Amino acid sequence: MSLSASLLEVERLSVAYGRVEAVREISLSVPEGAIVTILGPNGAGKTTLLNALMGILPARGRVRFAGRDLAIRTIEGRVADGMSLVPEKRELFVSMTVEDNLRLGGFRRRGTAAFDETLHRMWRVFPRLAERRTQLAGTLSGGERQMLAMARALMSGPKLLMLDEPSLGLAPLIVREIFRIVAELRDAGVSILLVEQNARAALELADSGYVLENGEVVLQGPAVDLRGDERVVATYLGIRAAAGA
Ligand code: ATP
Repeated sequence: MSLSASLLEVERLSVAYGRVEAVREISLSVPEGAIVTILGPNGAGKTTLLNALMGILPARGRVRFAGRDLAIRTIEGRVADGMSLVPEKRELFVSMTVEDNLRLGGFRRRGTAAFDETLHRMWRVFPRLAERRTQLAGTLSGGERQMLAMARALMSGPKLLMLDEPSLGLAPLIVREIFRIVAELRDAGVSILLVEQNARAALELADSGYVLENGEVVLQGPAVDLRGDERVVATYLGIRAAAGA
């Protein structure tokens, strides 16, 4: 296997809601150990794409993950193969404690050494959660909820973590903390597919990126090139660049 082997390989994926195609013939790849970001305005199809990759929505096209064709793979099968999704709405069990949310996230591995080891690792990676282990998830701050959603997704021991707008609604300091953790996860060997509207932060973190508009990829390349691309600067980085100048 070459160094640039792809963990996830998507070819001409299309997803429709009734007769409306929200994702059209998207091809992308996530190399092993990389952070790949998907940028784009509201309604571009980013969430739809992640849901289709996870098997939540039916799609046309070809998806290969860890060498396996996912055409008939169920959601549970994809989790078992090493995919995990942190949804935009975070979807925690609000009347359960932080620890019980994590335990549920890893229930498929309950009773194994890997389960206990991962739980301990989560307390190290997310010290804020360790301090709040017995607190009800519904009483956490927005940033803490995002951390819990990520930690819960990590409890299944994924090879690929898909994050849907983790910075949404969070203060800049917390966003920085979350992105620092994403980099740490990548360094620990988890590949990341990061959907973001915060293009500046995402392109600083990512190795490569894709820009979606109206369900299609309109730009793609190494993050360093996208940061310097006139269209990206004008559409996604311009206002803040001007404000910061
Ligand atoms: P945002 O950044 O606002 O979350 P997005 O890029 O994630 O946007 P999607 O949520 O994937 O975009 O939506 C893509 C398109 O599909 C939009 O036009 C949206 O209105 C439409 N859409 C999403 N969910 C459904 C649904 N359940 N039924 C019909 N259309 C839908």
